[in-house]
Amino acid sequence: MKYTNFKDEKLSLLGMGAMRLPQKGEGWGMPIIHDEAEALIDFCLEQGINYFDTAYIYHGGESEVLLGNALKKHPRDSFYVADKYSMNAEPDYKLQFETQLKRLQMDRIDFYLLHAVQDTTVDQYLTNGCIEYFLEQRAAGRIKYLGFSFHGSPEALVKMTNHRDWDFVLMQLNYLDWFHNNAKELYEHLRSKNIPVMVMEPIHGGLLAKLNDEAAAPLLEAAPEKSLASWALRFVANLPGIAVVLSGMSNQEQAEDNLATIKALAPLTSDEEALIIKAADIFNKTIGATCTDCKYCVEHCPQGLNIPYLLHTYNSSKTGGIWRLNRLKALPEDKQPAACISCNVCMKYCPQNLEIPKFMDEMAENLKA
Ligand code: SF4
Ligand code: SF4
Repeated sequence: MKYTNFKDEKLSLLGMGAMRLPQKGEGWGMPIIHDEAEALIDFCLEQGINYFDTAYIYHGGESEVLLGNALKKHPRDSFYVADKYSMNAEPDYKLQFETQLKRLQMDRIDFYLLHAVQDTTVDQYLTNGCIEYFLEQRAAGRIKYLGFSFHGSPEALVKMTNHRDWDFVLMQLNYLDWFHNNAKELYEHLRSKNIPVMVMEPIHGGLLAKLNDEAAAPLLEAAPEKSLASWALRFVANLPGIAVVLSGMSNQEQAEDNLATIKALAPLTSDEEALIIKAADIFNKTIGATCTDCKYCVEHCPQGLNIPYLLHTYNSSKTGGIWRLNRLKALPEDKQPAACISCNVCMKYCPQNLEIPKFMDEMAENLKA
C-alpha cells in the first residue's frame, strides 16, 4: 500500500468508501449483506487500507452501524474513520453527532466533515452553529480533524475557505470533471491555500469504469489488460497533494482491482494522458446524465421513483440505443418516468445539479412513442 503523510498521521492513499456496500438487491433502502460487507472491510484492512469513510445517511444509517461492528474487532489505532454531518437529514447537529458515535460504537471520529456543501447549503452550514459546535468537539478530542465535502461552484468554495482554516477538504475529482467541469479550478484553489485534498468519486460513481465502446476504445487498445477504472484511479492518485482517494467498494473484485492500481502506481506518461483526454472528450459528448448513484435524492421524491436507476437507463439509451428504455416498462406504472410530477424536489439534493425532471420528461416521451 502507498501511504501519505497527513499532519502526524500516515494515511493509506486508497480509502474505503462505505456508501455502496454489498446489499440485497438494487436501489435505495435495500438491506446490507452484513457478513459480506464485514469480510470486505476485513480484507481492506489486511491489504493496508486504514481510512474508512461513511456518513449519517449512507444506507439509511446502516453503513455507520456496519462499519462500527466491523472495525471494533481491530485495535482503534489501526484505522481512521471519517464521518459526516448532513444538515438536510437531521439539522440538530448535536443529536446527529451523538447518534453517529453510538452507531459507530466509538468515542472519537478521526475525520469529521460537513456533508455535501454546495451553493444551496453553504450559507446554512456557515451560520447554523454547527461549525462552532464541531470545533468544541475537536478541542475535546471527540473529533480529530474537521473538514467538509464539497460539490459546489468555485465561488462557494472560496466562501468556505475564507470562513476559517480547515484541516482538509473532500472534493469530487475525476478526469471527466477535470477536463469537462470545474474540478481543476477547485483543486487548484485548495492547493493554493495549502489545504490537504481528499478525493471522492474518482471513477464518477462507476461511470468511468464502464464508459461506452467508443470512449473505452483508446484505453483498451493501449492496454487491454488494464481495467477502465484503473485509468481513472491513476489519474487522480498521481496529482500532487492528494491525501486519500476514496473508492466506494461493493465487492472484493473491485477492491482487488483498486489495490492493484494503487500498489503499482505509476505516473501517467504524456501519451497516456492524451488517451485519457480522448476518452473523456468522446464520453462527454455521449453521456446524458452524470449521475454518480449517490442516492441523496431518492428518499425525497414524493413519487418514490428510483431516480438513479432511471437515469442509469437513460444513459444506457444514449450510448446503446433508445430501445434500452423499454426495460422501464417492466416497472409498475407509478414508478416509471411518466410518474414524475416535476416538483423539482430531487434537484435540491442532487450534488451534480442534474435537471432530473427534464430527463424524466424525455424518457416518458420516448416511452410513449
Ligand atoms: S421532480 Fe420528479 S423525480 Fe424529482 S422529486 Fe419530483 S417527482 Fe421525483
Ligand atoms: S440524481 Fe443526483 S442525487 Fe440522485 S443519485 Fe444521481 S447524482 Fe445522486
